[in-house]
Amino acid sequence: MDKQDKKIRRKKQRTAALCSKEGISLTSHPTQTVVVCNAGLTTGASRESIVERFLPHASPRRVRMVPGRQFCFVEFDDEESACRAVEALDGRGCEPVLYLAFTESVPDALCCPPVATALPPGATLVTNIMDETEEQNILSQLTFGDDGSMKHRQVQHFGYEFDYATNNVDATRPLPGGLPAWCEPLVERLQARHLLAERPDQLTINRYLPGQGIPPHVDTHSAFTDQLVSVSLGADTTMEFSRPPPGGATAAVRLPRRSALVMDGEARYLWSHGIVPRKSDVTAGVGGDLTLTPRGTRVSLTLRRLRRAACHCRHPQQCDSRQPAADAEQTAALSRTLESTHVAQVYENIADHFSCTRHKPWPRVEQFVRTLPTGSLLLDVGCGNGKYLGLNRHLFEVGVDQSARLCAIGRARGHQTVTAGCLPLPVRSGAVDACICIAVIHHLATRERRTAALRELGRVLRPAGRALVYVWALEQRLGARSAGYLKRGRQRAGADGRPEDAAALPLPVHTNRTEFQQQDVLVPWKLRGGAELLPSGVHHRYYHVYRQGELEEDARSAGGLVVRESYYDQGNWCAVLENAS
Ligand code: MN
Repeated sequence: MDKQDKKIRRKKQRTAALCSKEGISLTSHPTQTVVVCNAGLTTGASRESIVERFLPHASPRRVRMVPGRQFCFVEFDDEESACRAVEALDGRGCEPVLYLAFTESVPDALCCPPVATALPPGATLVTNIMDETEEQNILSQLTFGDDGSMKHRQVQHFGYEFDYATNNVDATRPLPGGLPAWCEPLVERLQARHLLAERPDQLTINRYLPGQGIPPHVDTHSAFTDQLVSVSLGADTTMEFSRPPPGGATAAVRLPRRSALVMDGEARYLWSHGIVPRKSDVTAGVGGDLTLTPRGTRVSLTLRRLRRAACHCRHPQQCDSRQPAADAEQTAALSRTLESTHVAQVYENIADHFSCTRHKPWPRVEQFVRTLPTGSLLLDVGCGNGKYLGLNRHLFEVGVDQSARLCAIGRARGHQTVTAGCLPLPVRSGAVDACICIAVIHHLATRERRTAALRELGRVLRPAGRALVYVWALEQRLGARSAGYLKRGRQRAGADGRPEDAAALPLPVHTNRTEFQQQDVLVPWKLRGGAELLPSGVHHRYYHVYRQGELEEDARSAGGLVVRESYYDQGNWCAVLENAS
C-alpha cells in the first residue's frame, strides 16, 4: 500500500466515524445515495459547485446540503450511476479531494434549515417594491466616500443624523434638505399600499460589502415610531431575528434585493435584528434544498419616523422610555442602603463614642431654644444624646432619634426620648409649638425624602409654629471665613476619593476636614480604642451636604412652610421654617 492509499484509507476511516456520530448508516454495497465528505456548507461549497464536480461522471438527481456540516448527500437515479461517481471521485482528483461512501438513507432532520425562516410577528416582507430601473437609479445617486464610513459598513443620513453613540436622534437638529427627491416615489408607494401609516422623516443608508454585517439590536424605542422599513438594494442578504426569553426564538429571513421589510409590533419592539458578518449565506434553493449563496454588495435604505415623545409599547424590558422607572428603583434601593447601613447602623455602632464628642450646643440653636415662650412644647427631631434638651427649664420637651442607644443615653440624662425615625414622625399633626432638627435631614438619601422630612416638620407644628433646621453645608469656606471644620493647611489639599479599602462602598469617601468635592458622600467616623472597635475601626456615615439655597428650595417645595430666616452657621445651612397653614 503506497503513501497515497494510506492517506485515503485514513480519511475514509475518519469519514466513517464522522457519519456514525451523525447517525448516518454507511454500507459497503452500492446504493443510490452517497455521502460526500469535504464538500459541505462549512467548507464553502455551494450545491451548484457539487453538481459541477459530479456531472462529468454521473448526473446527480439531488444534492442535499447540511447546515453547519462538512458533508453533503448526493442522490442518483440508480446504483450504477452512484458507483461510477464513487469510482471516479473517491479520494481522487483536484482540490478539494472528496471522500465518498454509500449510505442507505438521508436523515431528513439533518437537511433542515438551522433556524426558522418565517418572519417574526409584526414583520411584513414585500418583494419587488421597485423595478430594476428605479433600483439602478437610486444606487447611481449614492456616493460612499471615506466620509462617514463606519467600521463594518458605510452609512449616510438624511432628515436627521442618527447618533451611534447614543443610538438616538437629536430631534431639534434636522439636517438641511430633508429626504432626497429619489426617495419620494418609494415613500408614496409604501403609503399607497398601506404598508406605512406615517410619513418617514429620517433615512439611513448603509452599504454592506460581502463579509460585513450589523450587530443584533432593537431600534431605540423612544427614537422612532411604530414602523421601520428596510429596503434592500443591489443584493440579497439574510437578516437574523431573535426574540429574548421568555419565549426566546430565532429566525433567519432572506431579504431579496428590491424588497421592503416593514417591522411593526413585536418585530419592531421586542425582537432584535441583525446581519451576521459573512461572505455567503445558507439559502434554500429550488425545491427547498439548501445551498451556499455568496453575498454581493447590498445597500439598505432604512426609513423611519422620529417619535418625539415617550414610547408606550408593550415591551417595557426593551423600552428605553421605561428606563427612568428602572433608574428610580435603583435609586430607591441605594437610598435604603445608605440610610440603613450608612446612617442608622453607624449611629447605633458609634453611639457611645459619638455622644462623648457632643457636649457644647451651637450658640444659635441654644438661643432659639432659650427664647421659646414658657410652656411651649418643643420637639427635637434627631436629638442624639439630647444635648439640646434641658437648656430651657420652662419648656416641655420630647426628643426623637432612630438610634435606640442614643435615646437611652438621652433618657439616662433625664430627658424624654422616643426611638423613631423622622419619616414619619410619631407625633400628632399640629401638636408641637416648636421643632429643632439639627444635622438630621442631610442623612436622607434623596431629595424627595429630604423634602418629605421638612413637610413632616410642618405637619407636626401648630399653625405659626416654627422649626429650626440645620444641615451640613457643601461650602465649608464662605467668603474669607472658613468653618472650623476645615483643618488649617488642608483647605486646598482636599480630595474626595475612594480609599483602597472602600472599593465596595456605594459612594466616594470624603477626606475629613477638607472641602467637599461632591454633595453625596460617605464621611468616615474613626472609633478610637474600646471593645466596640470594629475590624476597620472606621464607620462611613452618609451625608448629602447642602449647597447654598438648597435648604430653602426644599422647604418651599415641601409646601405649607414659610422660610422666616436662613443663614450660614458653623459650616451649616440653617433655616427657620414656619407652619403657614
Ligand atoms: Mn435596525
